[in-house]
Order: sequence, then structure tokens, then C-alpha cells
Amino acid sequence: MHCPYCNNSESKVIDSRDATDGVRRRRECIRCGLRFTTYERVQTSALMVAKRDNRREEYNREKLMSSIQKACVKRPLPTGAIDKLVHDIEIQLQDTGRAEIPSVSIGEMVIEHLRTMDPVAYIRFASVYRDFADVESFKEAVEALEKAYHSTDKERDSAQLPLIDETIFSTKKRLRKPRAGLDLNISIGDEKR
Ligand SMILES: [Zn+2]
Repeated sequence: MHCPYCNNSESKVIDSRDATDGVRRRRECIRCGLRFTTYERVQTSALMVAKRDNRREEYNREKLMSSIQKACVKRPLPTGAIDKLVHDIEIQLQDTGRAEIPSVSIGEMVIEHLRTMDPVAYIRFASVYRDFADVESFKEAVEALEKAYHSTDKERDSAQLPLIDETIFSTKKRLRKPRAGLDLNISIGDEKR
């Protein structure tokens, strides 16, 4: 089991307990000292994902990875950040202990992680999965993005924001009109409906 943070292969088990259908182990990385949890169980059935149209399909790691990659295109993320994100989501999915999970719930998990990871990727992903039903949540998201935008090197960052309409940042007035931002040209996987 590799450390999800530094990828070191050695860890020591500091706690181990039986769960209903497996063993949960608390581990500590020998190299960086970070603690993480592994959940070991005999694979009896694959995790099923319930889509919004009620179709079911087997959980597909590549599909999740690709939808996150699309949201993160040209974002200055550290190497391995997306792998780690997918890994964390899978731990979370296992922790639910469920055999079936709605695709919307997986989307929400990703959104929560991206929110702290990268504001642009967050907005790209959330606008597909959440449709920003209410104006307030979209405003919040754009304001968070604006804050992050102004706190980084503007020149360097603007080169990395090809999908974001510059006018979003121009005036407060524009910010109050969410439609200006809704023009983001996004398509992630087949979740867009
Ligand atoms: Zn480590």
C-alpha cells in the first residue's frame, strides 16, 4: 500500500479493527509520517453507480478520472493531484459501505474536493454537475474564483484561464449578472444533459 501523499511503499499499522465486511487499518507512512486509512475486504461485487436517468452502471475509475481531468485542463495543479483526488474519492466511496451510489453523490464529493483545490476547476465541474440551480450558489462560486484570481500573479494566471470570460472579473456590476459567467464553454463526459 503506497502512501497517498508521498507514494512511499512502507507504512506501519497503528490501529486495526474489524468492520462488518472487512478490516479497517489506520496506517502511518514511514517516510512522511502522515496517517491514512485502508479498508480491506474481499471483493464480492462491484460498486454500482445510479445515473440521473435511473440507469445503472459499474463504477468506472477511468471515467471519473477523465471528467476530473477535463475540469482541470491547463490548471496549475501539482503532479499527482488528480490521482490523489480520485484515490480520496474511492476511499470515501468505500467508507459509505454502499453497494450502489447515485452519480450525483459522487459529483458532490468531487465538487467538495475541487472547491479547496482549484477554484476554476471547481466552477467548471460544478456547473456541469450542479447546474447552479440558484443564483446565490453561482455568485458564491464566482466570488471565490475572483478572490483566488486576484491573489495570484495576474499575468501568469490569465494565460491559464482560456475558458473563463475575462469580463467576469471586470466589475462588480457584471458579477451580479450570473449569465455573464454561464457562458463558460464546458462539456464534461456524458453527464451534461
Ligand atoms: Zn508518506
